[in-house]
Amino acid sequence: MRSQIDNRKSQIAIVGGGPAGSSAAIRLADRGFEVTLIEREKFPRHKLCGEFISPECLTHFAELGVLDEMLAAGGERIHETRFFDRKGRSFAIPSGLLDHKRAALGLSRSAMDAILLDHARRSGVKVFDGTRLSEAFIEDEVLKAISVVDENACTEIVSANLFIDASGRNNALCRLVQRSQDDSSKPAAKASVAVGFKNHFRDVKIEPGVCEIFSFPRGYGGLSSVENGAANLCFLMDPKIVRKIGSDPAKLVERAVCSNVRAAKALENASAAADWLAVSISSFGRTPASPIKNLFAVGDSAAFIDPFTGSGMLMAFESSALLSMAIAEHAPITERIVAEYSLLREQAFSRRLRVCSLLRKAAFAPFIPTATIRFLAFSKRSRNYIASMTRSYEKHSLNTRNAPS
Ligand SMILES: Cc1cc2nc3c(=O)[nH]c(=O)nc-3n(C[C@H](O)[C@H](O)[C@H](O)COP(=O)(O)OP(=O)(O)OC[C@H]3O[C@@H](n4cnc5c(N)ncnc54)[C@H](O)[C@@H]3O)c2cc1C
Repeated sequence: MRSQIDNRKSQIAIVGGGPAGSSAAIRLADRGFEVTLIEREKFPRHKLCGEFISPECLTHFAELGVLDEMLAAGGERIHETRFFDRKGRSFAIPSGLLDHKRAALGLSRSAMDAILLDHARRSGVKVFDGTRLSEAFIEDEVLKAISVVDENACTEIVSANLFIDASGRNNALCRLVQRSQDDSSKPAAKASVAVGFKNHFRDVKIEPGVCEIFSFPRGYGGLSSVENGAANLCFLMDPKIVRKIGSDPAKLVERAVCSNVRAAKALENASAAADWLAVSISSFGRTPASPIKNLFAVGDSAAFIDPFTGSGMLMAFESSALLSMAIAEHAPITERIVAEYSLLREQAFSRRLRVCSLLRKAAFAPFIPTATIRFLAFSKRSRNYIASMTRSYEKHSLNTRNAPS
């Protein structure tokens, strides 16, 4: 059977249709580039995430032309995030503190990612979903083409001048390229540093407009409302706890998450509304921005920030915006794109990655979360300072026109 993909020469090929890939595709198509996007899944699909869409993302939605659709998708506006220690003591960070008095948005990734990918199609991007990356073809240290396999097991070749890896923590394209260059077979499997779980729940007791974060020994969880009357529970924990309690998520909720009294209260009569999703995380932090001169990583592929600060999607949108700016300004001179993108990325993300790494270590350490929550409950200045350090957008030059209210 013939695949939907013709052997084509497109200017830019993107692997991955999450927030980083779709938003890069829309921005580049709007600037007149011919863009092909390869996505492994068929959307809508569930995705493991806290589904807290930080207020700054709304500026990106406006720039991308999807703000009205996102706000009409039935999600909940989140006005504050409240952090609870195990005994129920808490402090709150208003969403407006993160971005000019705007509220955040609680919306499922299933809805958000589908809206973005549909908009990419409407913007002229050739989207091939249900299609995954298979091989990379490199000549004279330039990535010439990739081969992809669709649902019918048909293999096709996609060639391009520039490639973008937006495949998330997988780093699928960058790893494939590195493997072909190293000539090695398979990389050694890395040990897990954290394990994440997520499900939607019904009949949860939380205040409307509040995202609740619960601390528990060697982990933390987040609960906030999304569309259709559901609430999203997502938690991250030390793999040792999973080994001790077992990998049944319901047991982990009961024994670990609900050791936090506030979580126990919020989930008292709640019932799971879908199948659990689980993921093992092997590392946080950065990977090279450009492992070969015409391949660029964006979103989680470029840097994975601890989810604690709810800014992973923001970094996905920002890194794509920065790369699109560099490409629009300097294409086809790849060396200039590399230099500009590396500089912008450094200015935008290095401080917040350092701060979030420290926060993660504190959240997983025994006693520190309780002491920190107690301290921050009394010190508004310290709360504001830490919140501002997890976002460092004052230094870089993202376009913030059309800022939504
Ligand atoms: C436990 C947890 C909670 C989180 N909570 C939040 C939160 O509340 N708020 C927030 O802002 N961030 C949160 N994050 C982070 C957020 O999920 C990511 O930062 C964000 O999804 C990154 O977007 P991306 O587009 O780079 O990657 P992804 O969203 O992972 O998208 C990558 C896409 O590439 C596709 N793909 C992968 N491999 C291939 C392949 N070989 N071929 C073709 N396609 C491929 C995948 O199917 C996927 O659709 C959380 C993360 C975790 C782990």
